Amino acid sequence: MQYLVTGGAGYIGSHISLRLSELGHQVTVLDDLSSGHRWAVAGLELIEVDLRELLPLREALAGRSFDGVFHFAAKSLVGESAERPLYYYQNNVAGTANLIEVALESGWRDCVFSSTAAVYGNPTTPLIAETHALQPINVYGQTKRVMEQLLSDVHQQGQLNAACLRYFNAAGAAADNHRGEWHEPETHLIPNILRRAAGDDVPLTIFGDDYETPDGTCIRDYIHVLDLADAHVGAMELLHRRGGFHTLNLGNGRGYSVMEVLKACEQAVGSGISYAIGARREGDPARLVADASLAADVLGWRPARDLQAIVDSAWSWEQYRRELAAGRV
Ligand code: UDP
Repeated sequence: MQYLVTGGAGYIGSHISLRLSELGHQVTVLDDLSSGHRWAVAGLELIEVDLRELLPLREALAGRSFDGVFHFAAKSLVGESAERPLYYYQNNVAGTANLIEVALESGWRDCVFSSTAAVYGNPTTPLIAETHALQPINVYGQTKRVMEQLLSDVHQQGQLNAACLRYFNAAGAAADNHRGEWHEPETHLIPNILRRAAGDDVPLTIFGDDYETPDGTCIRDYIHVLDLADAHVGAMELLHRRGGFHTLNLGNGRGYSVMEVLKACEQAVGSGISYAIGARREGDPARLVADASLAADVLGWRPARDLQAIVDSAWSWEQYRRELAAGRV
């Protein structure tokens, strides 16, 4: 198959691009490299274009035929989204509208979309199912909710099939293939812990230990990026087979506290990691855990990697990332 992967030079997009290419598919990455990395798409065709610009987008893709589109290109920092709402709506919502316009003009019908558990907002149930109310509490989550709605509305016109995959906490790396997470600034828990463990002179702060959870720290559902990659492949196959519009949670269905993640990182690193307890971070619910049973039913997908496998792979990647940063590889 021939696939277009927007945002394919980013963290999750590059892992899916790699998986598709391992499976023998032809992959074209479309990325403006605003946060993606050229090294992450080595060996793949890369089109550098910004989704906000319809005419250059149309020109870059004119006459191209794809069996499906994986759509990752989006801005994804919660804090930044509060400061720059228009920038988020332009990139995420207007960018998606442009992409769909070109997809419809070109006759590409199947789209797997990178959504997020942030569309739910504060959970009202211990496990979050797809039927949970959509009440995002930040601009980033709002834009993803609108992007899902946009895909759904176009689907209603009979012109597009879509699978919106709502990720919980994507983590881990395809360390053997020299892929992993690299954001600047880094805000995520596991890379922050491992950067500290590797000697970064940046203090590690745990945001609050007074939540109503067994150890007082927040609980999240961490899912290995390679498990996510398998689910994306399965979702595209579902669209090819049956079409339709689907929303599916992708998570392990099991939560770990920040302290449990820290312990798993200490295990991976083989030594203690120093940290400080800080104030709560605004907008952090105490517990976010997926009910991932629908994805299991619909895709026959079950995550194969546990928390320790996630942090072990992230630790291998962190060491390679430091070599890359230092220009030694
Ligand atoms: N967290 C933390 N220190 C950090 C980064 C994150 O204590 O340096 C906590 C954060 O408050 C949340 C959990 O770790 O409870 C996961 O945060 P992350 O930013 O990785 O993902 P999110 O759940 O916000 O998508």
